[in-house]
Amino acid sequence: MSPARLIDGKLAAAEFRARVRRGVDELVARGQAAPGLAVVLVGDDAASQVYVRNKDKAAHEAGFRVRTIRLPATTTQRDLLAGVAELNRDESVHGILVQLPLPRGLDESAVVAALDPGKDVDGLCARSVGALWSGGAGLVPCTPLGCMHLLERAGVALEGARAVVIGRSQLVGKPLAALLLARNATVTIAHSRTRDLPAVCREADVLIAAVGRPELVRGAWIRPGAAVIDVGINRLPDGRLAGDVAYAEALEVAGWLTPVPGGVGPMTIAMLLGNTLLAAARRALVPERELAPWRSETA
Ligand code: NAD
Repeated sequence: MSPARLIDGKLAAAEFRARVRRGVDELVARGQAAPGLAVVLVGDDAASQVYVRNKDKAAHEAGFRVRTIRLPATTTQRDLLAGVAELNRDESVHGILVQLPLPRGLDESAVVAALDPGKDVDGLCARSVGALWSGGAGLVPCTPLGCMHLLERAGVALEGARAVVIGRSQLVGKPLAALLLARNATVTIAHSRTRDLPAVCREADVLIAAVGRPELVRGAWIRPGAAVIDVGINRLPDGRLAGDVAYAEALEVAGWLTPVPGGVGPMTIAMLLGNTLLAAARRALVPERELAPWRSETA
């Protein structure tokens, strides 16, 4: 069997960011303000600092107005909620991203619940989740949107396909299952208590791993020709990054495969920009189809 076709997330993300940039230019040409993104970073978690820097840079390049708010790890819940309330009121802010995880002692769910659903560009608040499962027009979490975009762009058939998502987090696994279902796939969500995970995976025409365990998914778990999307980002003791899928083994069996790095990762930031543009278009009452035409392709 010929090796899997690689799905190039870097290229897809660059193309997508260029579309966002065109949407921003169009919005501004219509006399509206450029989309405003506020990123809130509490504490000094090293990985979060890198993510926030990358988001900041990509948002500037897309023509957004970006405000990165760095707060000390000693910030109280009350002050953080007051900060979110202020951003909710600020007309120049269209998207708010509170970088998770928050330092110990801060209640993440209360902070997420405090976000204006129209500005919740991570798609995590209850209104956003409800909209996703009921087919409404909320904002959808960025990583699942990125996975769907890569599948669509590669031309993977989803209608009637058997899709297995490993991982049931609010951020990745659950919203991904909703998006696949909306595309008429037959969806299974597998997780840490699933019995005989290899057999469940072998059923999948589309297999998505979002676990956080390096190389958990072996080549023998993959149905020949399946599309395999590897969401996992795991730092190995030698400093290298590995996905949740044993890459070399998967390459021999899968029909399509995303690499790590360079697969889903770059799409997450691209989709954050897309969500913020969408939020700004809605706020300006500009038909979103004209500025964010990908919306109908992915969600
Ligand atoms: P999480 O820890 O919230 O969820 C992990 C899920 O995996 C859980 O639902 C758990 O039930 C399941 N699981 C754990 N061990 C398992 C096992 N042995 N077998 C089957 N299922 C098991 O993680 P998350 O936030 O969903 O992230 C998952 C992975 O994706 C991580 O590696 C994370 O770094 C990565 N991630 C990448 C991006 C990106 O932009 N590419 C974005 C978010 C998360």
